[in-house]
Amino acid sequence: MKKLIRSLPLLVLALGVTLPAVAGVHWGYEGDELPENWAKLSPEYQMCGLGRNQSPVNITTPIQAQTAPLEVHYGTTSGNIVNNGHTVQINEGKPDDYIVVDNQQYHLVQFHFHAPSENQINGKSYPMEGHFVHSNANGDLVVMAIMFEEGPENTAADQLLARLNAKENSPEAFDNIDIKSLLPANMQYYRFSGSLTTPPCSEGVTWIVLKQPMTLSKTEIDKFTQAFKHHNNRPIQPLNGRLIIEN
Ligand SMILES: [Zn+2]
Repeated sequence: MKKLIRSLPLLVLALGVTLPAVAGVHWGYEGDELPENWAKLSPEYQMCGLGRNQSPVNITTPIQAQTAPLEVHYGTTSGNIVNNGHTVQINEGKPDDYIVVDNQQYHLVQFHFHAPSENQINGKSYPMEGHFVHSNANGDLVVMAIMFEEGPENTAADQLLARLNAKENSPEAFDNIDIKSLLPANMQYYRFSGSLTTPPCSEGVTWIVLKQPMTLSKTEIDKFTQAFKHHNNRPIQPLNGRLIIEN
């Protein structure tokens, strides 16, 4: 399991290819393949059932901490956008967007969306949640999550959606999109330890959930959710004594 979580992001960084959700047994959000059954689908997915630090979570009673402000170095980027059957995913073409966490650089590998949101803040669910997946040189992962509610449209989201091919697993390239404009002005966050929210549900993932939601227009939200065809949020997982800190 540990090997898998370390090797996948590195592979993506090295090859610049589309990361398959996971090369393995098919899983989903409906029927026999729904989240409650993931652990039974394959021995490789056992953490989905056995894990004690699973994501997503309901963020309640965070502890105030003197943590460093989140340093985000995003610019205009190029890459490709694909409907991989589980989500709409944007793969970075060149790994020069990064964040700094605990004095280490974590490079953006891909970002994708869930509807409705996976994490909740004080029991509140949002229409969408973006997961910006970053990896350091060791393959350790930091996922920065941004909540989206309905409101004014987002130009970067519009530009990305314009490139989205309705056909599954058909990546379309894009150039020079200012992905920084997907981020809120206020970068205060909640932080906790968790897992991938999709099989193999590997743990040891650092989660940073931004407090300030962004907006997407109803049309933009509809375009994303129509691509997903169904909800793609894993249910809330127990905290099991984990601490959530906030800055
Ligand atoms: Zn996700």
